[in-house]
Amino acid sequence: MDKQQLLASLPSVDEILKSGEGLEWQKAYPRRYVLRAIREVIDESRRAILKDDLKEISVKDMLVDIRGHIELLSAFSLKPVINATGIVIHTNLGRSVMSEEIMENVKRVACGYSNLEYELEEGKRGKRYSHIRKLLNEITGAESSLIVNNNAAAVFVCLTALAKGREVIVSRGELVEIGGSFRIPDVMSSSGALLKEVGATNKTHLRDYERAISENTALLLKVHQSNYRIVGFSESVPINELAALGMKHGIPVMFDLGSGSLVDLKPYGIQIEPTVQEIIKAGADIVTFSGDKLLGGPQGGVIVGKSELIENIVKNPLMRAVRIDKLTLSAFEAVLMCYLDEDKAKGSIPTLEMLLQRHMDIKERAKRIASRLKKEVSRIPGDVAEIDVIEDSSQAGGGSLPEIEFKTYAVAINPLRISVNTLEERLRQGNPPIIARIKSDALIIDARTVRNSEIDALVKGILNAL
Ligand SMILES: *Cc1c(COP(=O)(O)O)cnc(C)c1O
Repeated sequence: MDKQQLLASLPSVDEILKSGEGLEWQKAYPRRYVLRAIREVIDESRRAILKDDLKEISVKDMLVDIRGHIELLSAFSLKPVINATGIVIHTNLGRSVMSEEIMENVKRVACGYSNLEYELEEGKRGKRYSHIRKLLNEITGAESSLIVNNNAAAVFVCLTALAKGREVIVSRGELVEIGGSFRIPDVMSSSGALLKEVGATNKTHLRDYERAISENTALLLKVHQSNYRIVGFSESVPINELAALGMKHGIPVMFDLGSGSLVDLKPYGIQIEPTVQEIIKAGADIVTFSGDKLLGGPQGGVIVGKSELIENIVKNPLMRAVRIDKLTLSAFEAVLMCYLDEDKAKGSIPTLEMLLQRHMDIKERAKRIASRLKKEVSRIPGDVAEIDVIEDSSQAGGGSLPEIEFKTYAVAINPLRISVNTLEERLRQGNPPIIARIKSDALIIDARTVRNSEIDALVKGILNAL
C-alpha cells in the first residue's frame, strides 16, 4: 500500500466510537478523554505514515494504544504510594497515615449532615471548635484549645491576635526556617507583630529576654528548632524559666512546638523534649503544634493554652480564613479519642505504631518481604538480583526528631540486569508507586514504613521492575 491508501484506510473517530470498545469506554470513562485519546492515536498513526514509519495499519494495536491513553488521562493524580523510605512522618508523602477506624468516623460525619455548627440542646447556632475542645483540654491539661488549618496558620493567627503592632521577643537561635518558606522573621512581619531578637545564635540567657522586656512587649515566643540543631557551646532558656519570667512581668509566653507529642516517648528510647502536657504544666500560656506530625492525625494546627488568650484568638477575623473543615475535625475527634487511653493511642495510631514498633517485628517483616521476593525471583531464569535483609537506620521525619536515628531492618536489592537508578525510577513510576532510597549501589526497602497490607503489591512491583 502506498501512503495515500494507508491514510485512507485509517479508521475514523466515529468508527472507533461506535465499535464495541468505543461504546465500552464511553460507559467507563469521561467522554472527553475517550475522544481525545482516539484523536491522539489517529493523529500519531497519520504522522507515522507520513514519515514512512508505519507500513501497515493494525486497528487492534490502535485500540490498545487508545485504551492506554484513556487510562493515563483519567487516572487520579493524587494516589496512594508505598513508603519504603522508613521515614514515618514524610512531608512529601502526606505525613501521618489515618487508620480505617479514624476514617470510619470521617465517613459517618461527611456523608450526611452533622451538628458541625449547631447546638442540639439549645437548637441554636454553635461553634465548630466546641467538638474537640473538651477532648483536647482533657488530654493536654490546658484550660482551652482550638484547631486551625495547620500549625503555620496557628502560629500566624496567634501572633496576629496577641501581638499585632507590638513586640514579640525571640531568641536568635530560634529564628528558624522550617521549609516551605515558613520563616519565623517573615511570619512575624506578615502577622503585623514586631520581632525583637535577643541573645546570640548559639546562646541565649534568661537575662537577655528580661532586658528586652518593655511596655510594648506582647509575647515571649519560644520556637522549636525543628529539623535543625545547635550543638556544642550552646544554651537556650527552658520553657519553665521563660514561663516564670513571663508570669513575673505579666506577659504571655507562647511555644511553637512544631511536632508536639501527646505521649511520653522516652521509655521507648526516643529522647525528645517534653510532651505538650509537660509544657502546659511548666506554665506556657499558648502552645501550638501540628496535627499530622507526632500526633499522628490529619493536617491541622492545634492551639492550647489559657482561656482568656484562646478567646482573643477565636475572635480574630483571620480565624475564618484558617478554619478547619468538618472532615478534618471528625478525623481529629477520632484520633484524640484514642489518646484518652495512652496504650490504645500507641497501638492504633499508625504514626505512633510505626515509630514504636519492636525491632524484631520490623525484622520479621523485612524477612517476609525478602523471602517472598527471592521465591518470585527464583522463577525467572538466570540471575536477576541479590536480595538481603540488612540492619539500617531510619528517621522520624517531619522535623520531628531530627537527631534521632532509629534502628530498623530493610531489604537491600542489588539488581543484576539493570542499574540501581533504573530500578528506583521504575518503582517510583510504577502502579502503585514505590518510594525507596539508594545506598551504596543497592535499593533499600525499609520495612518500618511498609504496611502488612502492602507487601503483595510491593513484591509484585519490585518483580515487574526487575
Ligand atoms: C512543622 C512546623 C511548623 C509548620 O507546621 P505545619 O503543620 O506544617 O503548618 C511550624 N513550626 C515548627 C517549629 C514546625 O516544626
